[in-house]
Amino acid sequence: MSLVEVKGVSKRFGGLTAVSDVDLTVKAGEVHCLIGPNGAGKSTLFKLIVGLFPPTSGSILFDSADITAERPYARVQRGMSIKMQAPSVFKELPVLQNIQIALQERCSGAERAREEERLLDLLNLTQDRDKMAGALSHGQQQWLEIGMALALRPRLLLLDEPTAGMSPEETFKTGELIKSFNAGGMTVLVVEHDMAFVRQIAQRVTVLHLGKIFARGSLEAILQDQQVAEIYLGK
Ligand code: ADP
Ligand code: MG
Repeated sequence: MSLVEVKGVSKRFGGLTAVSDVDLTVKAGEVHCLIGPNGAGKSTLFKLIVGLFPPTSGSILFDSADITAERPYARVQRGMSIKMQAPSVFKELPVLQNIQIALQERCSGAERAREEERLLDLLNLTQDRDKMAGALSHGQQQWLEIGMALALRPRLLLLDEPTAGMSPEETFKTGELIKSFNAGGMTVLVVEHDMAFVRQIAQRVTVLHLGKIFARGSLEAILQDQQVAEIYLGK
């Protein structure tokens, strides 16, 4: 069962083709990692999936429905949630208020209070609830953003470079957290550079290079591919 099907999708920015005729299937219930050098088109592909801009050509299906022309909000209602690459927490607001903003769409009253506690606890932020988000470490800000994405209880969680700025310990904890969401039935698509982290979480891996799908399969198979080593690892 595929949850997301990207079919022949391209995105041009003027003369630059950032994403070129990409086919990508994300299966329901998997953790799928998207890797590739800087500028490969990974973040653009994520934005196409969540509807932040329309593709130049091609179509995108979610749960078998064609969502190519749908607004981001409609896609969120279908169960998609994204943590983008660029940080987007409200730095001038306390941690708790950031979580509350993310929750306000979905719940109110007593349920909201329960959800606040659950998310703070899940993300190890209970003790920092009253701190300004901007005063958190980089890793904690990433966790807060993941928490805000989780507030929507997504079926599909997209994480664009979730471990950027994290220590190895924080990175490992993030991996365990992602695996626990996945064990609870969530499908997760992750852009990531850290190969140890990819090995920790990924069931399948897709390599993007110059906007095109370059390889796909298990991480082990991909790392043995000489061409992938050349373009991606610079060997
Ligand atoms: P990655 O996430 O793999 O590093 P991106 O998807 O961010 O790559 O970028 C792919 C290419 O598209 C890059 O050359 C980038 O400069 C370009 N690009 C991305 N977003 C835009 C935009 N909004 N307008 C113009 N060019 C863009
Ligand atoms: Mg990117």
